[in-house]
Amino acid sequence: MPVLVASDLDRTLIYSAAALALTMPDARAPRLLCVEVHESKPLSYLTETAAQLLTDLGDAAVFVPTTTRTRKQYQRINLPGPEPKYAICANGGHLLVDGVSDPDWNAHVQARLAEQCAPLEEVRDHLMASADPLWVRKHRIAEDLFAYLVVERELLPEEWVKELAVWAENRGWTVSLQGRKIYAVPKPLTKSAAMHEVARRTGADLTLAAGDSLLDADLLLAADKGWRPGHGELADAEWTAPAISALPERGVLAGERILREFLKATRTTTP
Ligand SMILES: [Mg+2]
Repeated sequence: MPVLVASDLDRTLIYSAAALALTMPDARAPRLLCVEVHESKPLSYLTETAAQLLTDLGDAAVFVPTTTRTRKQYQRINLPGPEPKYAICANGGHLLVDGVSDPDWNAHVQARLAEQCAPLEEVRDHLMASADPLWVRKHRIAEDLFAYLVVERELLPEEWVKELAVWAENRGWTVSLQGRKIYAVPKPLTKSAAMHEVARRTGADLTLAAGDSLLDADLLLAADKGWRPGHGELADAEWTAPAISALPERGVLAGERILREFLKATRTTTP
């Protein structure tokens, strides 16, 4: 029986330069591997050690990248290790099988959204009407499933985010603030539902997960065992649950630690 490892990517396994949080003297910093180039510039990194651990993990378990990124944003990441058979994109809206979105899964998700929460248009209109151009840089719709804003964090009023969260909650949507992005995501659009589907298809009997943001909470709760880094939305909220380990590491070193934990848990189950 395979072990399934469903892990968030950004600020869990891969890190932008701004999110590395390196604290040692420069001369002792770990060597970094760039795994994403965007508009011809390096964007995301992991440590060389983490790259090796991820390669080992890919051989030992069913590793499933599990991200809120759109398919296009996911596909420009070049992770080390064997090509994952499954990947979860758009916060569970797309289940990629050998790089291609499973149309049945997407149709299933669309049907749930139509039944269970306010339509995307209503949320988009509310964001357009209420977000101040003073601090909003971009309005984005992802995969026709959810919306996000790119904001100036220093100018963003905390009160506005709280009000938005309440407004969204009443309509079956969740708000998550990650770095310079504010996400508004339908509650039925979850990473955990897609993870369950991959577990069903692969016959996995143990599921492991990791994530740093509010949008990863359902994934962590759904897994048999999970880890969260010492930074991010969940750490800031001191969020925890019985099967979840809150790690002390922050930044890119937390990514390395999470991969170590995945491997350890995989190896103790599959001798
Ligand atoms: Mg993340």
